Amino acid sequence: MNGSETIWISEIFGPTIQGEGAFIGQPTVFVRTGGCDYRCAWCDTLYAVEDRYRKDWIEMTAEEILAKVSKLSGGQPLMITLSGGNPATQSLGKMLALGRASGYTFALETQGSIAKDWFADLDVLTISPKPPSSGMQTNWKKLQNCLDAAGMAMVVMKFVILNEADYLYAREVARRFSKLPIYLQPCNQSTVSVEKESLNGRMLWLVERVLADGWFAARVLPQLHVMLWGNIRGV
Ligand code: SF4
Repeated sequence: MNGSETIWISEIFGPTIQGEGAFIGQPTVFVRTGGCDYRCAWCDTLYAVEDRYRKDWIEMTAEEILAKVSKLSGGQPLMITLSGGNPATQSLGKMLALGRASGYTFALETQGSIAKDWFADLDVLTISPKPPSSGMQTNWKKLQNCLDAAGMAMVVMKFVILNEADYLYAREVARRFSKLPIYLQPCNQSTVSVEKESLNGRMLWLVERVLADGWFAARVLPQLHVMLWGNIRGV
């Protein structure tokens, strides 16, 4: 197959509910692409990131992906959540055009390191800048390029918070981009299992931290899918 016309897919599953951010609870099908330009310390989707898993990824065309989504949703258009890895590493413009023509809506989450002109065809772009505990560095120019590329699409920011340094990072980024809706969620530090007690404690700490700080524009949410199913794949 011609690589420029195809998309590396790690998994397609659903319908399930969106477990995070602005559309938490909304029925959706997940299309998880393979490949990421980051290596976050607590990444819980390494199977969609690291080259050693590449043998498990499938190269699919836009039409093949939409056919699979349609089969899963019983032919009913719904919101397609594009996740990864970093889905911005792929060429998704054609899929967005075909999907939108058939009534699908598209939400995409990315760390904000690669801008694509097809961001403007998304319904929702979630930028999730990675805080200090990830071990990654934010490139502000590239992040701004992503925001500029979004055009009229709805843009929200989401932060995974492990500790005070992450909180302060999120606070500072929110000041820079004060017009964007902000979602905070506690980090599940383990990449292989869910530590429910520490997650609940971190959630409580985060809520109290936000309230004590008077950061009333921030919304603190759990990872609903982790609460319900843990780190099980495909739900
Ligand atoms: Fe994992 Fe996301 Fe970080 Fe990529 S950006 S390594 S997918 S947490």
